[in-house]
Amino acid sequence: MNLSSRKVLSILKRTLTPNRPYHAQWMLTRRCNYRCRGCNVWRNQENLEELSTDEVKKGLDALRQLGVMELVLSGGNPLLREDIAEIIDYSSQSFITTVYDNGSLASQKIDALRSADFVAISLDTLDEKKNDYVKGVPGAWKKAMEAVETLQKEGISVGVSPTISQLNLHEIVNFTRYFTDRAVPVWYCLYWYDQPVEDRLFGIGKRIDEFEIRDREAMGKVCDELLAMKKERQGVFITAKTLVALKRFFLEGQRTWKCGALQSFVMVDHRGRVAGCHCREPVASVFELADVWDSPRFEGLRKEYRKCDRCAYLCYIFYSLHSGVLSNLEIIRDQWKNAKSLWTERRG
Ligand code: SF4
Ligand code: SF4
Repeated sequence: MNLSSRKVLSILKRTLTPNRPYHAQWMLTRRCNYRCRGCNVWRNQENLEELSTDEVKKGLDALRQLGVMELVLSGGNPLLREDIAEIIDYSSQSFITTVYDNGSLASQKIDALRSADFVAISLDTLDEKKNDYVKGVPGAWKKAMEAVETLQKEGISVGVSPTISQLNLHEIVNFTRYFTDRAVPVWYCLYWYDQPVEDRLFGIGKRIDEFEIRDREAMGKVCDELLAMKKERQGVFITAKTLVALKRFFLEGQRTWKCGALQSFVMVDHRGRVAGCHCREPVASVFELADVWDSPRFEGLRKEYRKCDRCAYLCYIFYSLHSGVLSNLEIIRDQWKNAKSLWTERRG
């Protein structure tokens, strides 16, 4: 049995094991070479010390043993880590591994990215000027477009990841059409900002009025159009369940999900600290997570988080909606064509 077949079987086993954190995001570093307007990461550069390569690998072992099946490596910019090739390679042996880049480094790290299941290049719009304004760096759009082209030529599974905000809301459907026409999948984020709280893992989203989605009807329409596009083309990387929930949230103000922080997903920071989400306090280290996962303390925290309505970051909504064995099977069904093409490419 080759590595990919072993990996698929092992992931399927974890998929079918109940009460596990199926999704994890590991912010490997807080360092970043961009200055995105809606982001607090580059503004807060305290405690930059990171785990060593061996410690990260040990942490990845711990997440695998706990049942995580899908892992997102992000930051800051994770590609700024010198050992990123080794980390991606190790992670990809156990998890469906996605690596984020803001578009600036992927072309220089081709060999490191070969073993990733998916590389997401952050790109918000086809409008060069607007994109560079959002990213706070001149030339960001050009670099991101070049990175997508280069990675695609190299046979790496690359997609683009726009953050939907009021600034690009009316472009998202065309943006999706443009890239999926070129066999580049689109993986969406949603602009949100952190509430002021005393104790949290770290800050990400900064409140910017011009980004906040005011045109709720238009957002509902985008959800409808993406739902329709999913039926006719591959590469629209958002589940139907998530789109339906998002539409109700924007049009009716209803949260049809209960937050699954510390239940179906966890966040890990550059120091190996774990929290339910980045807006919550660290509650364990990644190395001890398995020991405390079934503890009464964690049960209490889960109950508290289930009632929380402090944020609507899209990844957390997705993880919350897909939080059980049946939902995992739904993801596989919903994304079957995409998953199949990814896994087929990895076989052999
Ligand atoms: S959004 Fe990402 S790329 Fe932009 S500054 Fe923040 S961490 Fe860096
Ligand atoms: S809703 Fe969930 S993900 Fe958002 S802040 Fe609350 S606990 Fe965290």
